[in-house]
Amino acid sequence: MCIGVLGGGQLGRMLALAGYPLGLQFRFFDPSPQAPAGQVAELVVGDYADAGALARFAEGLERVTYEFENVPLSAVKSLPRSLPVYPPLLALEVAQDRLAEKTFFQKLGVPTPPFYPVTTQGDFERGLERIGFPALLKTRRLGYDGKGQRLLRTPAEAEAAWAALGGQPLLLEGFVPFERELSLLSVRSLSGQVAHYPLVENHHASGILRKSLAPAPDTPSRLQHQAESIALKVMERLEYVGLLAIEFFELEGVLWANEMAPRVHNSGHWTLEGAETSQFENHLRSVLGLPLGSTAPRGYSAMLNLIGLKPEAARVLEIPGAHLHWYGKEVRPGRKVGHITLRADTPGGLEAGLRQLEALLTG
Ligand code: AMP
Repeated sequence: MCIGVLGGGQLGRMLALAGYPLGLQFRFFDPSPQAPAGQVAELVVGDYADAGALARFAEGLERVTYEFENVPLSAVKSLPRSLPVYPPLLALEVAQDRLAEKTFFQKLGVPTPPFYPVTTQGDFERGLERIGFPALLKTRRLGYDGKGQRLLRTPAEAEAAWAALGGQPLLLEGFVPFERELSLLSVRSLSGQVAHYPLVENHHASGILRKSLAPAPDTPSRLQHQAESIALKVMERLEYVGLLAIEFFELEGVLWANEMAPRVHNSGHWTLEGAETSQFENHLRSVLGLPLGSTAPRGYSAMLNLIGLKPEAARVLEIPGAHLHWYGKEVRPGRKVGHITLRADTPGGLEAGLRQLEALLTG
């Protein structure tokens, strides 16, 4: 059985690697001939607007999924109607536009930062009056890893941000003085079966995820239940099938939804070694209508992204519980080229490994 995946980045590559033991085959679609998934599976190279390339991609597939949430909707719509695509198009549509996403959360009664849509300078001024400082000005589309957004603390910063970003659809958001950032990975299968992983604590620098701790330390079960009930509402409303990641801010015991990704997620890479079933395998099980695997953690895990650096494998692997994943990419500054998962049976063991690993990566 061949699964088609739109997008051929590292997420796709890890999907294929998780799917081979289940006897699945994969075909990827990506505009770049260097897409990392192409090293482990068939890759159709083409522009998302190229109907001929998309038709070649679709030939003989059983299912289509995606690993990149900015796949143009028109590319998905051009696939044969008889070919099931999961997660559903509506999820992709909502996740591609920060305004649609925040409006969606608000309509479901899910706490989300206050927001104001901005197109003109007049909207921006009205928005600032409504939201006040500090605020964030974000592009509505194609923002990721902190790209396309500015923090505004003063009118001068607002003016500079408008000069840089004005002229495209934007969203002004109230700044949430969160205590920490958490994410929930949930999965819903074709049969309606749902499973949730434990909340993950995420640490960003310059808008890019650096480190995830799973399960999130010192997390009351009340918070886990709040996150799960939000995810359930979101998935039911979208008639969702697949793995869904929701990113939250935690503030005074409340979770505020910031964004969601209708795909496997960087904050779920720890599940490869740190959970009974990985997010990649559960995503595949869900879109195929197979029973979901247990999401129970195996002890304590940390995931560190390798951003623009390639430490010596032997130095990483001598640390007990360390697992190394390369994405087959050339190292460039600011580029995610791999990650390391550390797994331990106790919180103390994890802390000791992290100290060693962080010293290696910064040394
Ligand atoms: P995003 O692209 O929306 O995921 O934002 C990237 C990062 O910017 C988040 O992980 C937060 O650290 C920060 N951020 C985004 N929106 C807000 C907000 N409304 N209040 C505070 N921090 C934010």
